[in-house]
Amino acid sequence: MRKIEFFKHNIDQEDIARVVDVLQSVFLTNAGVTKEFEQKFSEYLGIKNTIVVNSCTAALHLSLLALGIGEGDEVITTPMSFVATSNSILHAGAKPVFVDIEEDTGNIDANLIEAAITPRTKAIIPVHLYGSMCDMKKIKEIADRHRLKIIEDCAHCIEGERDGIRPGQLSDAACFSFYATKNITSGEGGAISCNGDALAEKLYKLRLHGINKDAASRYTSTYKHWDMEVLGWKYNISDIQSALLIGQLEKIEDRLAKREELARFYEVEFDKNAIIYVKTPIGAKSARHLFVIKTDKRDEVIAELQKSGVAIAVNYLPIHLNSFYKQNMGFREGDYPVAEKFGSQCVSLPLYPKLDLESISYICKTVSSTIRELHGV
Ligand SMILES: *Cc1c(COP(=O)(O)O)cnc(C)c1O
Repeated sequence: MRKIEFFKHNIDQEDIARVVDVLQSVFLTNAGVTKEFEQKFSEYLGIKNTIVVNSCTAALHLSLLALGIGEGDEVITTPMSFVATSNSILHAGAKPVFVDIEEDTGNIDANLIEAAITPRTKAIIPVHLYGSMCDMKKIKEIADRHRLKIIEDCAHCIEGERDGIRPGQLSDAACFSFYATKNITSGEGGAISCNGDALAEKLYKLRLHGINKDAASRYTSTYKHWDMEVLGWKYNISDIQSALLIGQLEKIEDRLAKREELARFYEVEFDKNAIIYVKTPIGAKSARHLFVIKTDKRDEVIAELQKSGVAIAVNYLPIHLNSFYKQNMGFREGDYPVAEKFGSQCVSLPLYPKLDLESISYICKTVSSTIRELHGV
């Protein structure tokens, strides 16, 4: 039977050779490769500083802490995301406040944010779902009016752009993921990019115990005494992982172009068959992280795709309906109806540069004929 993976990474021989170089060097962590990637990533985004950490979850957590958000504070975010987004708010000791989403993009509905603001609100975490940016101009206006911080969850969106704005440009901090299935990956990993220099200094410190010198300068240059100034976390990654990211970043636009081509193929096929898919907002360049269709026969479509050897994912069942959130925070079905409907209809289809057109064609046919049969036409 045919087997179409949901995702295949793009780590190539050059990337592996870079890892081997690190393995053959004296010092395996923080001897310069992570720094090199941080500089290149900042350059790519057009942002002053990047702080690499071991996950996007850690990036979100540290950003909240460094911006002074904690106990007693509320942070507005979307229920249509991976649990990491709102978990990071809980990790910081603050309270996640969900705002419902736009039906067509799945992104937080900026028009509903203001109604959710209370005297305790300190920040907004928009998530650029599937690679399409939220309406950052509108969100920035609201944040300025109410003196709120913005931390972007850019786990899906390194390459995106909307209304001339790119990730990190209108926020205090932008958080990225290099988890195994993301657009560039080190297996596990993440980063915070920000223009604030004082904020960056805090973040460098917080990712390594709150120590004022990183491991490299403690061991590789002449010995200097160091001091732990605040209580930080152990959130750094090693140069072994960072070595994987440098080459992938160099090829990031080529690979986006390939995913764009594949996504367009899906779109043309699905338009022909009246299948609904999540569209890129007008004026936006999507990072094309995930390709998502919506159908009220979602679970039947999933079963048929899996029977046909096509791996899929669901991104996402809404966060507030997870047991933990229901039991500990009092959320109930019906709280965010748009997100709940979206979460009952969405299926993510394979989308990665190694996917060939023949496979996509096969996926399109399977989806279209399944939905047609289920609707009895
Ligand atoms: C993957 C993901 C995260 C978490 O990333 P990690 O690097 O695994 O911590 C956060 N938010 C969204 C939207 C994600 O898809």
